Amino acid sequence: MRIAVVGTGYVGLVVGACLAETGNDVICVDKDEAKVRMLRRGKIPIYEPGLADLVIRNADEDRLAFTTHLGKAVKHSQIIFIAVGTPQGEDGSADLQHVLAVARDVGRTMDGYRVIVNKSTVPVGTAAKVRAIIGQETEHPFSVVSNPEFLKQGAAVDDFMKPDRVVIGAEDERGADLMVSLYQPFTRTGAPVMVMDCASAELAKYAANALLATRISFMNEVANVCELFGADVDRVRQAVGSDRRIGPSFLFPGVGYGGSCFPKDVKALMRFSADREYDFKVLKAVESVNESQKRLLVRKMEAHFGSLKKRTIAIWGLAFKPKTDDMREAPAIPIVKTLVEKGAKVQVYDPEAMDVARGIFGAKAVYAKDSYDALRGADALAIVTEWQQFREPDFDRMRKLMKAPVIFDGRNIYHPHQMKQHGFTYNSIGR
Ligand code: NAD
Repeated sequence: MRIAVVGTGYVGLVVGACLAETGNDVICVDKDEAKVRMLRRGKIPIYEPGLADLVIRNADEDRLAFTTHLGKAVKHSQIIFIAVGTPQGEDGSADLQHVLAVARDVGRTMDGYRVIVNKSTVPVGTAAKVRAIIGQETEHPFSVVSNPEFLKQGAAVDDFMKPDRVVIGAEDERGADLMVSLYQPFTRTGAPVMVMDCASAELAKYAANALLATRISFMNEVANVCELFGADVDRVRQAVGSDRRIGPSFLFPGVGYGGSCFPKDVKALMRFSADREYDFKVLKAVESVNESQKRLLVRKMEAHFGSLKKRTIAIWGLAFKPKTDDMREAPAIPIVKTLVEKGAKVQVYDPEAMDVARGIFGAKAVYAKDSYDALRGADALAIVTEWQQFREPDFDRMRKLMKAPVIFDGRNIYHPHQMKQHGFTYNSIGR
């Protein structure tokens, strides 16, 4: 099929590349000219495992092209995906200006039947808004489909290629049938394709993210209670997670959730529920626990050192999770900023997010060239993102580089007894 994907961010670029990989003829559109120039030269603006190969190969084989010209892409395509950002607005609602602007331009430029697909995460009712806007601009027939994306950054290509399920919200059979056939190559192994109304599809995405955020905040509270009673959250987690009704994933305590989705999606779900006079009480607690958890490591450091003034703190991990360079809403941001405010010198290292970090912290942090370099003269190490390469370091070398062998592990990547053997004072979460 001929496809346009508008927005070449973490979602749009993956969707475009994966749809090209199954033989479709895809044009990706972005209004950011620098990004499009880079992509045309075969350079990938973000870090996402496996994505560069996919983009370069499909571009070389003429199934994937990049443009800033929306009209050209709309004329070329039967199906148009809208995958632009829906950032948090001032009142916590999802800001739909980019989605609606694209919808208007699609309406203005389409010259026959089109399927317009909302891939962005959008509040319930947005498909109806998109339909109304396009309808004002064109006489041609069209279908609006809501197709929320469930991929995880860091495993986005794999997730799109092998989805747990595909959700298609559609109001007419023509649009639904085209989407089901487009997804066939990805659902051959039996992943369900769920066709439903647009409102349910839109809400499903928020409910999924909010439930995952709830699990994280819940386990963070369990970890805090473990500390009060001398229980071990790893044991508790294993016992709880082996219950088949609960399952083992997403039960790891830590420094709170971040990223471009959970914080804003939790807020937006509360916001559009409140618009209908519904008070989503659970999510208020989820958010407040998360805010507190993002400050836990600094509280632990203060409990250990007293004042943090003139202390040198090494930070391992800045991205909001491993295998991405994305620092949107990353817990590392408030951690580093609070440490700096309290007079500490902060030496940071992340395998992929150093350039992004420079843009956020500027001259306030020292940027190490590798994980060991960050430890030079440090009074303590704080582990904020659980990159695989931090899991088996050379502990002797670490001890020698640091002023004092003290670790605050915000991701529980080591065993307390092992760290004692290595001669570290080791603080982790809920153990
Ligand atoms: P992003 O910020 O990485 O990318 C958005 C892109 O859209 C940018 O490149 C921007 O230049 C482009 N854009 C904005 N307005 C445009 C316009 N009018 N015309 C053309 N291009 C335009 O965002 P993202 O992380 O890819 O997220 C996109 C959507 O997908 C959001 O609604 C998000 O909530 C949702 N989502 C994200 C993830 C994720 O893991 N990042 C997962 C599932 C769903």
